[in-house]
Amino acid sequence: MAVCARLCGVGPARGCRRRQQRRGPAETAAADSEPDTDPEEERIEAPPSPPRRSLLELPPELLVEIFGSLPGTDLPSLAQVCTRFRRILHTDTIWRRRCREEYGVCENLRKLEITGVSCRDVYAKLLHRYRHILGLWQPDIGPYGGLLNVVVDGLFIIGWMYLPPHDPHVDDPMRFKPLFRIHLMERKAATVECMYGHKGPHNGHIQIVKKDEFSTKCNQTDHHRMPGGRQEEFRTWLREEWGRTLEDIFHEHMQELILMKFIYTSQYDNCLTYRRIYLPPSRPDDLIQPGLFKGTYGSHGLEIVMLSFHGRVARGTKITGDPNIPAGQQTVEIDLRHRIQLPDVENLRNFNELSRLVLEAREQVRQEQQGGRHEAEGPEHGPHQEPAEDGGKPGDAAAMATEQPGPSSQGQPFVLPVGVSSRSEDYPRTCRMCFYGTGLIAGHGFTSPERTPGAFILFDEDRFGFVWLELKSFSLYSRVQASFRNADAPSPQAFDEMLKNIQSLAS
Ligand SMILES: [Zn+2]
Repeated sequence: MAVCARLCGVGPARGCRRRQQRRGPAETAAADSEPDTDPEEERIEAPPSPPRRSLLELPPELLVEIFGSLPGTDLPSLAQVCTRFRRILHTDTIWRRRCREEYGVCENLRKLEITGVSCRDVYAKLLHRYRHILGLWQPDIGPYGGLLNVVVDGLFIIGWMYLPPHDPHVDDPMRFKPLFRIHLMERKAATVECMYGHKGPHNGHIQIVKKDEFSTKCNQTDHHRMPGGRQEEFRTWLREEWGRTLEDIFHEHMQELILMKFIYTSQYDNCLTYRRIYLPPSRPDDLIQPGLFKGTYGSHGLEIVMLSFHGRVARGTKITGDPNIPAGQQTVEIDLRHRIQLPDVENLRNFNELSRLVLEAREQVRQEQQGGRHEAEGPEHGPHQEPAEDGGKPGDAAAMATEQPGPSSQGQPFVLPVGVSSRSEDYPRTCRMCFYGTGLIAGHGFTSPERTPGAFILFDEDRFGFVWLELKSFSLYSRVQASFRNADAPSPQAFDEMLKNIQSLAS
């Protein structure tokens, strides 16, 4: 209404007999998507001549230009102003521009004309109607989690399931496969199709449960069938989505095999519920750009972890998980106030040396937590602040990094201590800095979880590692190099809430 009132305010309001009626602008775009009820009748009722110096005097091309620059959600109320506006708003270039600017549709929309679908239909019945499912999501499938990215792609909305590359190639790009798509085949309503299986798109259903939750369902699961029967399908699924064989899982955990079967069955029906994920908000003084990383998790393969900064701590939250540490849990926590000065490469080869440094840092943290205050500032630890808690001033990490120059800020040689196992020998041989941190370990089924000491190694802007002291193992993480639209948190609070929410669902 604001827009309507503003525009009408240019001249006397004679042409605006309906401007104060009906719904708010945000609600009207979808609802008002049907074309005119009766344009002829409107014309008869319209005022005979536009008032002096009114917007109505402007040539139609100019009005098309003006209307095209307004948010699409404001246009339905504008259409209620008068028949002339209403007629002009039928101009498809206006809607083509809205599709492009608001949803990034750069497809040649003229193709639509063949099917009789207008850009206005695409805007209202597809893009606006399904705008709440655009962005990043985590499916609710036991401990494994997952990452779904729903995007506008050409004239489709597609749900892509992101899968980590095959173990242990963390630097390889993510793999993805479509789970569903939505498009306007005819002008009446959008069609949802399930893309699962190898037989092409088929009938599916999407239900938007609430703002940050939706579910999908396949209506033709027979399309998921493969010639070799269920067993063969299960094998293919394991190989394609997890890069694993029945045999290697069987050898590791019988329980895990049962879990995999369960997940397979839920995916088989493509009957899943998704919860929204936001990308972490970033600040210029963060240690590195926060975001999504692929990390090695021993025999569990590669998992997706979200790195976020919270003042004096950085957190790695699992977006995909495993039966030990499920998705949603905090796999690592890095104490940015406690930097560890790594020794030269020769001494670094000695596991006991790294172990000593990490345990020393842990002791210091413990003392600070007990005593609260601390006088001495050890040469390794830089300026101390209040004991570790959530939040804290932003910029501490960067301050830590700049206040401690020396060889490490330029990059110092790095090598894993002898005896520390790594999925791959292909890890960076120089690092920028190292911090004390803790890593979460647990028994199968997330039994007796425990935070254990470790060392966070920052290699470069896109890679870091974590040495799990007790496990004597090393995880390497590499940034997911993909840009995601509609994935930013509306506020830092919304992001924190999302983190808490996925963590509580996991346990
Ligand atoms: Zn299906």
